[in-house]
Amino acid sequence: MDSQIHKIHQQLVNKEITCTALVQDKLKSLKQNTNNTVNALLDNLALNLAAKVDAKIAQGESIGLLEGIPFGIKDVYMVQGTLTTASSELLKNYKSAYTATAIQKLLDAGAIPLVKENCDSFGHGSSSENTIFGAVKNAINPDLVGGGSSGGSAVNVAKDYTVFSIGGDTGGSVRQPAGYNNVYGLKPTYGRISRYGLMAYASSTDCVGPIAKSIEDIRIVLNVMSGKDQKDQTTYASAEIAQDAISDAKDIKTVGYFKNFIENDAIDAQIKSDFLSAIEKIKAQGIQVKALDFFESNTLVSTYYTLAMAETASNLSRLDGTNYGNRIEAENLKETYAVTRSENFSEETKRRIVGGNQVLSQGFSDEIYLKGLNLRDQISENFENDFKEVDIIISPVTPNIPPKIGDSLKDPLAMYLSDAYTVGFSLGQLPTLTVPQGTATGLQITAAKNNDELVLKFANFLKDTI
Ligand code: GLN
Repeated sequence: MDSQIHKIHQQLVNKEITCTALVQDKLKSLKQNTNNTVNALLDNLALNLAAKVDAKIAQGESIGLLEGIPFGIKDVYMVQGTLTTASSELLKNYKSAYTATAIQKLLDAGAIPLVKENCDSFGHGSSSENTIFGAVKNAINPDLVGGGSSGGSAVNVAKDYTVFSIGGDTGGSVRQPAGYNNVYGLKPTYGRISRYGLMAYASSTDCVGPIAKSIEDIRIVLNVMSGKDQKDQTTYASAEIAQDAISDAKDIKTVGYFKNFIENDAIDAQIKSDFLSAIEKIKAQGIQVKALDFFESNTLVSTYYTLAMAETASNLSRLDGTNYGNRIEAENLKETYAVTRSENFSEETKRRIVGGNQVLSQGFSDEIYLKGLNLRDQISENFENDFKEVDIIISPVTPNIPPKIGDSLKDPLAMYLSDAYTVGFSLGQLPTLTVPQGTATGLQITAAKNNDELVLKFANFLKDTI
């Protein structure tokens, strides 16, 4: 698919459409949608901004590329004055006091926010069923899950309800729903985009990630959101990625894949054979393909969940009904905290808080948490060595096709294992893109840290290759 952003920009400039009509049309589709993608519509804000864009065009002023382009926001981002619920009972009535840096940059560029999107509560999940707003339904088959945790965002893009959406990816939450709904979803290098104003899940892997229908739209949105931010000390300055810099992939000579991702019993037979035939097509283009060794999926999933649970238990400790959240008064302060948290957090979130506090507690932290950190270092080292040998690593996004709605809730462990292919790249803080090609749930393209440009370049190459 070609760039929607360029197309709409031209239509606006040529006065073939008005921004108001475009926004009205998208708001109507969002309102009528039966996939449960919407937590809150930002209709007044969107229509006001659209009127301003139309006035500018009518006066003959020029407009920027993102000006008037409607987009969606996962409901874990602060947007001043709007409800930011994280799809939780606890924050059902919480209004943001400020705007996230990444979102502010899009607003400054003139993009129009339409909707706060349904997701797994606090990013906890792989199916967008852990939400008070009802399970998100898959865009291709509504009996299946939309994927998670940024399920509403991926489905909105797939259904053309938004031109692009901003998800959040801690262990796969942009890439996996993008794969489940056949769209593009990027987890940039950790630190490339500021996390300020993204509700913290696991701070050491949280990334802001765009979801769109074309590589070009991902590139445009990535460029706008990137950059150093004083409010997030993990951010770094990055060069803009030019359109022509990613059009030719001649300098990509070697591609690797992890043998054990493919040669194991957990992968669906069709995904496996589709992946292997994608590899053949890449080879046929003269690229050398290497099979690489990597950690077992179980090790990756356990390491990720150990660290992610520890970090989320710590991050969510501030949600006790004092400064944030629906406070439930009880007999004394301690009881008030306990009742507020136990009544307002979901089962899945409580499982993670209990697990996280356990791994951080005295007597356990050396055995579990520190071991997790140590494994993470080994995983990063493994990646560093791999990228001395190959330019790109390619992998399936998920071992299986999306489950039916209801199944993941019955079996959380199976849900955690569905993250087997995404979490390793999060621990390594590497740039990874889901492309809607190759297997039923797409392919992931990964490069070394800070090499987001190479990822987009290879995506362009794959688009024409398989
Ligand atoms: N499914 C993973 C988890 O539940 C990833 C979620 C995310 O990236 N926010 O932790």
